[in-house]
Amino acid sequence: MDRFEVWTEMGMKEGQTPPAPTSEEGLSILADAPLDRVLDLAERARKHFFGNRVRAHILNNIKNGNCPEDCGYCAQRRTAEGIPQYTLKPAEEILEEARAAKKNGAYRYCLVTAGRGPSRRQIESFSKVIRQIKDELGLEVCLSAGILTDPESAKMLQEAGLDRYNHNLNTSEEHYGDICQSHTYGDRVGTLENLHGHGVHLCSGVIAGMGETDRDLVQVASELRRLNVVSIPVNFFLPVPGHAIENPRTFSEEQCLRILALFRLFNPSAEVRIAAGREYYLKTRQGDALKVANSLFISGYLNVKGSNAAETAQMIADAGFEMELSEGEAHGSMVASESNPDAFALKDISDLRPFARS
Ligand code: SF4
Repeated sequence: MDRFEVWTEMGMKEGQTPPAPTSEEGLSILADAPLDRVLDLAERARKHFFGNRVRAHILNNIKNGNCPEDCGYCAQRRTAEGIPQYTLKPAEEILEEARAAKKNGAYRYCLVTAGRGPSRRQIESFSKVIRQIKDELGLEVCLSAGILTDPESAKMLQEAGLDRYNHNLNTSEEHYGDICQSHTYGDRVGTLENLHGHGVHLCSGVIAGMGETDRDLVQVASELRRLNVVSIPVNFFLPVPGHAIENPRTFSEEQCLRILALFRLFNPSAEVRIAAGREYYLKTRQGDALKVANSLFISGYLNVKGSNAAETAQMIADAGFEMELSEGEAHGSMVASESNPDAFALKDISDLRPFARS
């Protein structure tokens, strides 16, 4: 049994913390370790912690555009043009979308806002709507609202029942200045530590393909492990209109599988999610990716559209997996919605606000 196998097996035993993989092992997962061996180990960890189940997440952009930040990968960055802009959606609109998400098989509902970080007033609004969604629908709720280093705000969200706070590391500390100058990697880590310190579970992931090296990806995988992150969205960079990433990378299906395996093997019990770029880069190997990852998004990502609930459910079933549905839902409840897996098609206002009252 080699070292990979030793710590993968240890990670599968209840209550045991496996030793941290080394950077060299991480680099080998990405480059020269035999692919079938890497995938076999990743699949064993995935099966141990999540069986045959796949969790579907649906994103709701509850506040869009007009962002003062300059994240180079984002179509909503401060110089972006042509992006629908609106302030925080009314609670009833958010609830209506949450009801539809539940019908579409969502296990978890992710509320996402554009902007540097929330005001206290916004935290109060989020807390109220989080309580309403949980009380009425029983969905797990995740909030992604930017930099949040104020302890009192973290406490309010925890008391409202927030299940997870999302704040992606995106890339390594060393590479961070190349993708964004309006805030720092340290701001991101500070936010995660604040929320974790107040008992909120962490969702934080990566965007691969932004000119980073393999060593940067390994550093992110290792840092997420150090921060006790329980949910890891793995995005593959899509050069959306208006982006400012220099030297974007492109990936083969095999490279995507290796990257997913890296995050799984560094974080065996985490919910590893195939996020943006799923349709574009993995193509017919999305089913193989589910042997490593145990969750995905349906009906699009932060800025771009994606395949709809019915298509995604079919892909999951064809690959031999089962959707893990929220309480009270049945597979038959999948409803059709417009599909657009074109990787570069930005969400328009009808995608973003299907229940807006004009
Ligand atoms: S990722 Fe968020 S904070 Fe950064 S530019 Fe986009 S909307 Fe703004």
